[in-house]
Amino acid sequence: MKFEEFSLDGRLNAGIRDVGYETPTPIQQQAIPPVLEGRDVMGLAQTGTGKTAAFALPILQRLTQGPLRRVRALIVAPTRELAEQIHQSIGDLGKHTRVRSTAIYGGVGKGPQLEALKRGAEIVVACPGRLLDLAGEGHIDLSHVEVLVLDEADRMCDMGFLPDIKRILKLLPQQRQTLFFSATMPPEIRELSTNILRDPITVQIGMIAPAKTVSHALYPVTNNMRKALLLSMLHQTATGRVLIFTRTKHRARSLARDLEKKGYNAAALQGNMSQNKRQKAINGFRDGKYDILVATDVASRGIDVTDISHVINFDMPDTVDAYTHRIGRTGRAEESGEAFTLATPDDAAQVRAIEKLLGRPIERRRLANFNYGDFRPENQFPGNGSGRPNGGRNGQANGQRYNGNGNRNRRSSSKNNDNRPRQYGSRPTN
Ligand code: AMP
Repeated sequence: MKFEEFSLDGRLNAGIRDVGYETPTPIQQQAIPPVLEGRDVMGLAQTGTGKTAAFALPILQRLTQGPLRRVRALIVAPTRELAEQIHQSIGDLGKHTRVRSTAIYGGVGKGPQLEALKRGAEIVVACPGRLLDLAGEGHIDLSHVEVLVLDEADRMCDMGFLPDIKRILKLLPQQRQTLFFSATMPPEIRELSTNILRDPITVQIGMIAPAKTVSHALYPVTNNMRKALLLSMLHQTATGRVLIFTRTKHRARSLARDLEKKGYNAAALQGNMSQNKRQKAINGFRDGKYDILVATDVASRGIDVTDISHVINFDMPDTVDAYTHRIGRTGRAEESGEAFTLATPDDAAQVRAIEKLLGRPIERRRLANFNYGDFRPENQFPGNGSGRPNGGRNGQANGQRYNGNGNRNRRSSSKNNDNRPRQYGSRPTN
């Protein structure tokens, strides 16, 4: 299928060409036609599927007609990074139109946002708190909103924004189109969606399982060996951009520092950093200044960096949803990626929960050339990690597959299809 088949305004097709999209992703194929028809849509899709353009393009199409310089579309997102990313996508796709968007979020001065609102924008991309602030102070008029998008609704709910969302809904016209995106469907999100969507079309992409293009592996380890194992893993794995997740802000900071000391180009991304610093870290990661970004869950929302080769869970995520979201950072837009999870014996219940979500066991691996001491990774998390019957070709005594040869050069690369080692993006610089 081609983008031209949606019969979008020629200026939008030009924008699509400029950003380099050639074919619509599955969610774009499914969602764009009903959104263009004005239908409400429930999109069960995670980040990385192309959902931003799936709602942005039909909204831009609608707004190319009718009055300018008043807020006609409102997109609500959980974090400033995601809001900024959506705003930028709209700017790129709508570059040749006269439609303008503006981003509204807290943690930065209000001045520039107020000025942008005064200049006039048809699309507002906002985080709930600052939006309510500005609306309460009379700086933003939402009474002409024709389309509402709630993006990453489950995450907004996790972050405690549900009451704010209900307040925002009261400021909007009843008569409107509503598009609701969520990667998961916990009960409170289901209830919210039934209350606000009218006769919606449901579009479901890869729900609830993480992106299919990602391969998953589990590395059993003890708490004390965690950092050494990570270093050895980075050293012997052919990686491109690597995103590492930690449970706490402090750990993100200290791990990034340790990696830098070892000669890696690494930066941290965590909630205690100013918006400015966060954006710098994300930009640096995107532009190749940093090969490794060490992030916490909340801070990582909205990282729009394609071509992340590896997501490494340095700490096991607290929830199964968090696993889905983290993994959604790699394998974006149908590229392939790998997700490595370091798991200690205490993580056994969480491993089971994630495998249930994936619908299959995660391959267990023992890192080659790593001294585990007395610890026996093969003895952790009993289960058939190979997805094959016990005693498969590489099976150990307990039937789990351990990659005795390590994982060097496992990623195939069109640039390198012989067996020579690739250039390792994340290797120490000296
Ligand atoms: P999203 O799920 O909206 O965050 O999009 C994930 C990534 O895929 C972003 O980097 C987009 O720029 C990219 N993307 C979205 N749609 C397409 C497409 N049709 N072709 C190629 N890349 C796309």
